[in-house]
Amino acid sequence: MSLPWRDLDKFRYEVLIRDIRNDIELFREENIPISVEIAKLSQEYQKIVGAMTVTFKGKEYTLPQMGIFLQDRDRDIRHESWQLSTDRRLQDAKKFDELFDKMLKLRTQMAKNADFDNFVDFQFRRFGRFDYKPEDCFAFHDAVERNVVPLTRKMIEARLKALKIDTVRPWDTACDRLGRDPLKPFETTDKLVYGCREIFGKVDEELGKHFQRMIDKGLLDLDSRKGKAPGGYQSSLTEVRLPFIFMNSVGVDRDVFTLLHEGGHAFHQFAVNDEPLLDYRHSPMEFAEVASMSMEMLGASYLETFYSKGDAARSRYDHLSGAIGLLPWIAIVDSFQHWIYTHPNQTARERSDEFTRLMERFGAGIDWSGHEDALRHRWQAQLHIFEYPFYYIEYGIAQLGALQVWQNSRRDRTSAIEAYKSSLRLGGTRPLPELFKAADARFDFSDKIIKPLMADVSEEIEKLDKLENS
Ligand SMILES: [Zn+2]
Repeated sequence: MSLPWRDLDKFRYEVLIRDIRNDIELFREENIPISVEIAKLSQEYQKIVGAMTVTFKGKEYTLPQMGIFLQDRDRDIRHESWQLSTDRRLQDAKKFDELFDKMLKLRTQMAKNADFDNFVDFQFRRFGRFDYKPEDCFAFHDAVERNVVPLTRKMIEARLKALKIDTVRPWDTACDRLGRDPLKPFETTDKLVYGCREIFGKVDEELGKHFQRMIDKGLLDLDSRKGKAPGGYQSSLTEVRLPFIFMNSVGVDRDVFTLLHEGGHAFHQFAVNDEPLLDYRHSPMEFAEVASMSMEMLGASYLETFYSKGDAARSRYDHLSGAIGLLPWIAIVDSFQHWIYTHPNQTARERSDEFTRLMERFGAGIDWSGHEDALRHRWQAQLHIFEYPFYYIEYGIAQLGALQVWQNSRRDRTSAIEAYKSSLRLGGTRPLPELFKAADARFDFSDKIIKPLMADVSEEIEKLDKLENS
């Protein structure tokens, strides 16, 4: 086969050629019908999940809608709503297991067809993970267990004391840790927009101007309306090279962070506007989320735009502890899949045994007693495991990048933001380690990075806890 890229500039086209070559090497005609079969099973998963509703206090709710009751101050309401949702899910546990067994078999076959020993190695290549291996993921799992889990256990311990309960149950983790009413950052979408405009301007003048341009050009669709599609995301209008932000704000603390997050994605788009190659106008997920998650961290310094000093500290505490709290779950979801695809002959029972072991290893000390069956099947609610195998650790890798940007900004704000901005300008032109390096962060997910990060996070969380109560 002739290589049409033989004469291209090596540095400039390294990433593009690597990706194209990869696609060609992995292609197998016999994997097309298998992909179709898996897509059908994915649709079946969505159908089962989508049909799940419960009746609570005389009204019918979908399971995502039920989430709101887990934030209620009343423990009985939390317990009852959790129980209803959990029982509903368990009704279909066997269906999920059968569905997953089929997917596992097909995925293993696909890997074999492409001359791989197992689906793990095949999927790493399919995702274009050239810059890290399964061993790096194992190092991430170990580092999370050693450095993050002690911190999340401490926070659960504090919650137990503050809420004056005997043990923290699965329905006690989403409500405010001191039993307060939710924060109310704004009344109207306009307030959200101009509040964030102010924050972006304080982070960096140029970024503030970019956001102003989005306001002027009507590139924001933020309020929740009847009939509007759910979710929040940033998308780019490729033809005019402008970003667009879509979300459903309802006036809660989370909305502020969603807009900061999507703003980070939008700034990434502005930064690559001059890139002629479409493939280079976006970076891999592991870095794309650094752009957005860093903006949450940097913007969080100016939350007084929305809140009193005490409430701003409370919001920052929730945000930071939430970011940390997700890392053990990412480690569980990732470890679990490494086990699944290296034990292709597993039974459903063995699979749940392994999941339970991981929940113990990375758990924060939540008391599941009496709900062992729910615990064993908890993984079935994570759609990525069914539909996007191995696509999850990206969030953890990106969070480590964002935390490093935040860590840099605590030392020297100006240079941290300059580095952040210059990393965005690279788009997808360079491999991941170089994108991280440009942001003044290291592409490493081991103890070396996580240990000092968690020391800083722990210090900050303690500081916020005091500020909030002062
Ligand atoms: Zn994002």
